[in-house]
Amino acid sequence: MNFADLGLSESLLAAVEEAGYTEPTPIQSQAIPPVLMMKDIIGIAQTGTGKTASFVLPMIDVMAAGRRRALMPRSLILAPTRELAAQVAENFEKYGKNHDLKLALLIGGVQMGDQIKALNDGVDVLIATPGRLMDLFERGKILLNGCELLVIDEADRMLDMGFIPDIEFICSKLPETRQTMLFSATMPPPIEKLAKKFLNNPKRIEVSRAATTNKDITAFKVPVKPRQKQETLRWLLDHDQVETAIVFANRKTTVRELNKSLQGYGFRSSEIHGDMDQSSRIKELERFKAGEVNILVASDVAARGLDVKGVSHVFNFDTPWHPDDYVHRIGRTGRAGAKGRAFTLVTDDDAEAIANVEKLTGNGIAVFGKGDVRVELVEKPRQRDEDEKPARKSRERVPREDTEHGSEHGAERETAPPKQARSRRRDERDTNEQSAPGEWNGPIPGFLDVSAV
Ligand code: ADP
Ligand code: MG
Repeated sequence: MNFADLGLSESLLAAVEEAGYTEPTPIQSQAIPPVLMMKDIIGIAQTGTGKTASFVLPMIDVMAAGRRRALMPRSLILAPTRELAAQVAENFEKYGKNHDLKLALLIGGVQMGDQIKALNDGVDVLIATPGRLMDLFERGKILLNGCELLVIDEADRMLDMGFIPDIEFICSKLPETRQTMLFSATMPPPIEKLAKKFLNNPKRIEVSRAATTNKDITAFKVPVKPRQKQETLRWLLDHDQVETAIVFANRKTTVRELNKSLQGYGFRSSEIHGDMDQSSRIKELERFKAGEVNILVASDVAARGLDVKGVSHVFNFDTPWHPDDYVHRIGRTGRAGAKGRAFTLVTDDDAEAIANVEKLTGNGIAVFGKGDVRVELVEKPRQRDEDEKPARKSRERVPREDTEHGSEHGAERETAPPKQARSRRRDERDTNEQSAPGEWNGPIPGFLDVSAV
C-alpha cells in the first residue's frame, strides 16, 4: 500500500515524502480513508506505529477546505501532557508545511498572551491540554461551537477518572454533529464503554489487540531486593550497551533522588516530572533529545506518546502500579521499526503488579539471566596490572562527595552509600576499567545468579 492510494492531496503527499516515509503504517492505511470520510473512529495500535500521522494527515486535507474565524477554532486535538501536545503540534507543522493552516498550542505553565493572540487571529487547529483550554474558555477567550472535529490522543488516559470531568465539559461545548476520533495503544473495556458516549457510530480500527506491546521491544524482568535496585540499575546501564535510556520511577521523589544518585556516579542523566516548572520540563526534555544527557529519569508524565529518536532502553526502576502504564512506558523505545530493550525491576512486593502487567499484555516477561547479558561474563576477575592502561574509559565514574550525598539526608537515603558499599563499588569500577570492551570480569552480580536458576 502506498500513501498515494489513501486519497490524500498531492501537496500533502509531497510533505510526507519529505518526512522520509515510504509507506503508510497499518494504522495509517486503515484510519486515513475513514477519517477523510468524516467517520468517528476508535483507533488502537501499538506504541510507536505512527498513530499521530494517521489523524494529522487526513485532518490537514479536511481543514484545507473552509475558512478560519476569530476565536472559533475549527478543530481540536486534546493530549494528556504538555510535552505530548507540543509534539503533536510539531507533527502538524511538519506535515502541513505546504498548506495555509494556522495552529495554536494551548498548554499550561506558559504565558497566555501569545495563545490569546493566536485565538484572536483565528486558528484552524487547536492542540491543547484540557486545563489550559478550560481556563481560556472560562475567560471567554475562545468559542468551541465552530469546532467540528475532535481528536483525543491517548484517549484512555484522557477518559480516566482525573480527566473525565474536563473532557465532559469540553465536549458539551462542541457542536453535537462533529467528527470525533480516539487513539491509543491501550483501551480498557470500561473506558471504551464510557468513550462511546462521546462518539457517533464509530468505526473501530484495531491494528493489534489493545495493550499488546510492540514486537520490536525485547522485555525482561529483573528480580531484585529493594536495597539492590540502584546498584542493579547502574550495572544494567553499564553493561547492556545502553545508548539512550528513559528510567521510570513511580514517585516524583524517587525520580529526583535517582537522578541525583546517577549523576553522582558520573552518569549523564537528567529528570522530568510534574513538580517541575514548565520551562525546566521543556529544557530537560530538549537536553535529552539533543543528546546532552543520555539518561532521562522520569515520572509517568513522560510515559505517554513521547517520541524521542534513538531511545535504546527503557528501565522501570519501579514496577508500574497500573499495568497500562507499563505498555506506554516501554513503548518509548522500539519506535518506528527500531529495536529496543526494556527492563523492569521487580521486588517481592511487586509480584501482583507484574502479574497484572503480564495478564494485560497477554505475555509472560522473560526473567533476565546470564544468557541475556550483552557483554561476556568472565567468572574470575583478571589479575590487575597496575601499569595497564584502562581499555575503556567512556566516562569518569568517581562518586561525587557533594552535599546531596553527604550528611544532609543521613545514611537512610540509598543515594548515600555506606562506606563499605562505596569501597566495593570502587573495586567494581577499577576492574571495569581494566576490562576489554564487551567483557565483564568483575564479580557476577547477585541478581543474575538469582535469575539464572
Ligand atoms: P504512536 O503515536 O503510534 O506511538 P507516533 O505517531 O509518535 O507513534 O510515530 C512514531 C514514529 O514513527 C515517529 O517518529 C514518526 O515520525 C514515525 N513514523 C510515522 N509514520 C511513519 C511511516 N509511515 N514511515 C516511517 N516512519 C513513520
Ligand atoms: Mg501517539
